[in-house]
Amino acid sequence: MSSPVTAYLLLGSNLGNRVALLRDARARLAATAGQVVAASALYETAAWGREDQPAFLNQALAIETLLSAGELLARCLTTEQQAGRERLERWGSRTLDVDILLYGPAIIDQPDLTVPHPRLAERRFALLPLAEIAPQLVHPALGLTMADLLARCPDPLPVRPWLGDGVL
Ligand code: ADP
Ligand code: MG
Repeated sequence: MSSPVTAYLLLGSNLGNRVALLRDARARLAATAGQVVAASALYETAAWGREDQPAFLNQALAIETLLSAGELLARCLTTEQQAGRERLERWGSRTLDVDILLYGPAIIDQPDLTVPHPRLAERRFALLPLAEIAPQLVHPALGLTMADLLARCPDPLPVRPWLGDGVL
């Protein structure tokens, strides 16, 4: 039997009950993909590239999985479908997005799967939650830690810790 791999996922939602959608996605991934060994706080970010959309909530997860990267991607896409996601337009609003940020130290370049996620180093909404749960994790292609990548990230969009609706 192969040994478990620690994979890092980014959950995102900007439609519907975002907090409940992220909670249900965590539960479904725990049941179908592997043990969730770390979860970041929730962070809110304006929709990237499309300012006319509602803001996103994002959360990073660490999962210990026995699945291959391809199998893990399939579980991520099934989890999106269970959340009622429809693919209408690129960068459009979505009830749930589940991306693989990292799969252990693997570098994967396939038509349907690129790991590390190609935009990880340029997206504060992905780096900030990942750096919260794995600051010393080294990016296998860039050779820098998540904390270093966050410090160098040029993304101007602010990413705020989510405090809940109407809570001051
Ligand atoms: P995005 O997340 O970039 O907004 P989508 O969620 O619509 O785009 O994903 C479209 C496709 O991207 C997926 O069906 C999947 O095959 C592909 N893909 C490539 N690399 C990854 C990755 N690291 N994580 C998730 N999906 C990926
Ligand atoms: Mg995606």
